[in-house]
Amino acid sequence: MNLWQQYIRPETVADAVTALTSAPGPALPIGGGTDIMLDLHQGRHSPVHTIVDLTGIPEMKILEIRDGRLFIGAGVAISHIALHPLAALYARALTEACDLIGGPQVRNVATLGGNVAHALPAADGTISLMCLDAEAEVAGVAGRRRMPLPELFLGPGKSALKLGDVIVGFYLPLAKPGEASAFKRIMRPQGVALPIINLSVWLSRSGDTSSPHPGPLPQGEGIKQIRIAVGPGGSVPFRARNTEAFLAAKAYSPENFTAALDILLEEIKFRTSAQRATAEYRRHLVGTLLRNTLAAAWERAE
Ligand SMILES: Cc1cc2nc3c(=O)[nH]c(=O)nc-3n(C[C@H](O)[C@H](O)[C@H](O)COP(=O)(O)OP(=O)(O)OC[C@H]3O[C@@H](n4cnc5c(N)ncnc54)[C@H](O)[C@@H]3O)c2cc1C
Repeated sequence: MNLWQQYIRPETVADAVTALTSAPGPALPIGGGTDIMLDLHQGRHSPVHTIVDLTGIPEMKILEIRDGRLFIGAGVAISHIALHPLAALYARALTEACDLIGGPQVRNVATLGGNVAHALPAADGTISLMCLDAEAEVAGVAGRRRMPLPELFLGPGKSALKLGDVIVGFYLPLAKPGEASAFKRIMRPQGVALPIINLSVWLSRSGDTSSPHPGPLPQGEGIKQIRIAVGPGGSVPFRARNTEAFLAAKAYSPENFTAALDILLEEIKFRTSAQRATAEYRRHLVGTLLRNTLAAAWERAE
């Protein structure tokens, strides 16, 4: 049985939207195909009439500073982001996440748009974009709109994108002095699959950010604002908003870290994944992951 009848490679976003909405049967956009081709071949996705390949659209392959923000086209390959100096400078959590996705072959064809659109709660690119306060630009039949990233997710593997919607790219605020981000994950050997658990932190520091500090949790200096995302921390990519609210405008101290971890464990909903880890194991790991990721962002924000 053919898994699709028609394969179209448009050169503009408008043509992609038209191809998706005018197909005589079910139609799907694809980026690198590293998720969806497996799903089609292994029967997790029913056969479709039309596949619309987005990789020939130049607008979706741009990575640049645009209107005071970092723009990353949804069709930019993961390996390109991992190595890009602008991404490293302004969105370090994202480059760290991209560097850990799959192996070289997967990273060379997989796209950031596909990572997000698949709507998995622990996708590495997604979890890093969550702490970076990214917005997605989505094109559809009614034109273009901007969506804060959390609004894109409805459930595991279920996005809010409608028929004909294409993510064109992502806008990220530029990190300013005193602000930084970090991403870490705990995984089985890299290249095989999603992580056991991943976590990203963006923060801004207050106080004397140039003073040396003795250990991973220096006393007395402050966190002005913080964003924390954890995967898989629920049915959708998870922002730890209660933990963030507690840590904002607080000293970066061991006591506050311990209290923050209690709040995180209270608000997060870990689950057991058949092939990756139990919920208990993830609860056991998350404190160390938060401590190390927070420390990395804190040091970079100096
Ligand atoms: C061996 C292997 C290892 C992997 N390791 C990791 C890992 O470590 N971490 C991780 O996060 N992921 C991993 N993945 C999953 C996958 O490679 C990534 O999620 C990748 O970023 C998906 O991008 P893609 O372009 O290949 O998506 P595709 O397969 O092309 O598409 C995925 C979904 O997104 C939709 N889509 C794609 N682009 C758009 C767009 N611009 N607008 C709207 N919808 C769109 C498609 O319709 C489809 O539903 C791995 C996969 C494999 C096979």
